Amino acid sequence: MRIDLLSLFPEYFRGPLDESMLRIAREKGLIDVRFVDIRDFAEDKHRRVDDRPYGGGPGMVMMPGPVAKALDAVRGEGSYVIHLTPQGERLTPSLCKEFALKEHLIFLCGHYEGIDERALGERVDKEVSIGDYVLTNGCLAALVVLDASIRYLPGVLGHEEAALQDSFEQGIFDYPQYTRPEVFEGKEVPLVLRSGNHAEIAQWRRQQALKKTALVRPDLKERR
Ligand code: SAM
Repeated sequence: MRIDLLSLFPEYFRGPLDESMLRIAREKGLIDVRFVDIRDFAEDKHRRVDDRPYGGGPGMVMMPGPVAKALDAVRGEGSYVIHLTPQGERLTPSLCKEFALKEHLIFLCGHYEGIDERALGERVDKEVSIGDYVLTNGCLAALVVLDASIRYLPGVLGHEEAALQDSFEQGIFDYPQYTRPEVFEGKEVPLVLRSGNHAEIAQWRRQQALKKTALVRPDLKERR
């Protein structure tokens, strides 16, 4: 999958993309990530990309020209443009699965008060929010969407079924996890997990998952 990250701070992505699963996915050639600096598409010699909002109000707004030019430079057949914005559709596992099927994802990151509406419109395929709060810029949101989506690409996790048992997949949380040592700070690993009885283990895990979901996120249980 090809991925283009359009922002004003391409260096922002370096750490997260150079570590852990994202690094491995890049090294395996499962994702080909490119960083596009919207400032390279500025239209004046000062490389200006933002200006004051029409109608007044605080902050600055990203000018439409550089954003539109940057998008047009990377868009092509098979591209899918995601604009990160708190005003978008809330990210869900099903959206992530949909994104994982695309051959070319373009992430458009906003900065300041956001992007001039005229650069968006038909250039954007989906507006996505990572939650009901406001970040200082779209780079973190793009990383969240990217990370949550590429987990569904075959070969990224190494053990495909892991993603399918994770929280939210069955409409509830994942079950509680335990590993060695058998006793830690006087607390023992539940006996059932050491029993070798797979049916009982599965039943216990499901009960625990349902219990925690009901306690912490009763809305999820109701939706099920
Ligand atoms: N004025 C905008 C509003 O209230 O809708 C917020 C702008 S925010 C300070 C700057 C940028 O951060 C946005 O353009 C967007 O790219 C990104 N951003 C902030 N919160 C986000 C969220 N919850 N999900 C996705 N992107 C977000």
